[in-house]
Amino acid sequence: MHDVRHVCIGLSRRGPHGTGGGSVRDEYDVIVVGAGPGGSTAARVAAEECNVLLIEKRQEIGSPVRCAEGVPRPPFSMLLERAPDPKWVACEINAIRINAPDGTAVDVSPEMIHTEEPLGYVLERKIFDRQLAKEAARAGAHVMVRTRATGLITEDGVVKGVRMNRLGEDFEVRSKVVIGADGVESQVGRWAGLNTTLKLRDIESCAQYHMDNVDVRDETLDFYLGSRYSPSGYAWIFPKGDRAANVGLGVLGSKITDKRPIDYLNVFVADKFPDGQPVELVMGGVPVSEGLRALTSDGVMLVGDAARHTEPLSGGGIIPALDSGITAGRIARKAVQQKDASTKVLREYETEFNNNPYGKQRKRMYKAKEFVVHRSDEEFNRVINVMHGVTPEEMTMKGIIARLLKKDPKLLFMIRHLL
Ligand code: FAD
Repeated sequence: MHDVRHVCIGLSRRGPHGTGGGSVRDEYDVIVVGAGPGGSTAARVAAEECNVLLIEKRQEIGSPVRCAEGVPRPPFSMLLERAPDPKWVACEINAIRINAPDGTAVDVSPEMIHTEEPLGYVLERKIFDRQLAKEAARAGAHVMVRTRATGLITEDGVVKGVRMNRLGEDFEVRSKVVIGADGVESQVGRWAGLNTTLKLRDIESCAQYHMDNVDVRDETLDFYLGSRYSPSGYAWIFPKGDRAANVGLGVLGSKITDKRPIDYLNVFVADKFPDGQPVELVMGGVPVSEGLRALTSDGVMLVGDAARHTEPLSGGGIIPALDSGITAGRIARKAVQQKDASTKVLREYETEFNNNPYGKQRKRMYKAKEFVVHRSDEEFNRVINVMHGVTPEEMTMKGIIARLLKKDPKLLFMIRHLL
């Protein structure tokens, strides 16, 4: 059993190595780089049986938030193995509205998908991410903030630890396994020789305001399709309660011209919330790719955005970060127990992740994304007009095909690859 440590922010008298919660050791079983949802989860799971160091370059875990904070309920509750804590839920979601360029909308309610539970949640990631890091600490992980990975220690091509910088001081810590959970701008994978490059057509460039003083429909995620707000992605309004909302959009890298995502966002906000006040602006990339060819090499695994795990159609990355963090943490434990962190053992993480329900549907979601990004406004109008007014009874594959056949058979031909 490990002793409980604390998430430490201050500089102790022992210098950058001292963290106030105990000095950093020269060696750990597992080092996790990045304390987002993927990294903290991997650290917690690995710490159940191994000694773990979790490092985060920011001084405050979870802040600034680069996320619209929406999560679907069933996988979220399942991965957390508990009901969400009201402390880190801003809003429950009980409706999803998809808006076509011509103003027609289709609404999805819990009833439509035959459930009485909420469809999802909008989180408070500042609180949620910090909670996950605390849980890693309570499981025994040593958590160090303001500590940046600057490179990997490699011997004969095998990763043996991480080079770090804390408050201006460089040092090295050795480990048997390194988990790269360093987000979309990940360097760990590249340092380990893994190809993490994304094509421009496989990354959404996003801009989002946190808006106040806005009239939004409570408990509803609103999505807007069409070229006025995004030439290839979608715009969103996610309520945060108390007349606040995350309002943003993504534009595929390959579709960016001299009009930037922030320019589209300003048009969207002027149309929807002329009296709203943006109180925060975030910009960031979201991988929308088919995934990496390899997620592991000798001594290294990648999770979450670092592994390009984001779901390619929606751009949602919290669920795959949690999911991959759990699996990677478990396989890291196994590698430490077996005293073998070679690719042969670590690749089990890849196989498991690719064959779980999320990994399996990834190829379909990528196909769907490729389909959506090439649709015209007129085609979006047709799809949403056909689906407008769909009943819960029709919300099956058979029901949808019947509806398409009746209302717009040519559309059925167009989307046949997705069915
Ligand atoms: P991150 O949360 O990015 O965490 C990586 C961590 O690593 C960071 O804390 C970073 O500081 C740290 N780090 C990086 N480099 C180093 C280093 N060298 N040393 C130490 N630490 C380092 N997903 C959803 O599911 N729902 C949404 O509604 C949603 N909306 C989004 C809106 C926007 C505008 C954007 C940009 C993204 C959105 N996403 C959304 C995606 C989601 O935010 C990510 O997929 C998710 O945060 C991935 O988690 P992660 O743990 O892999 O990485």
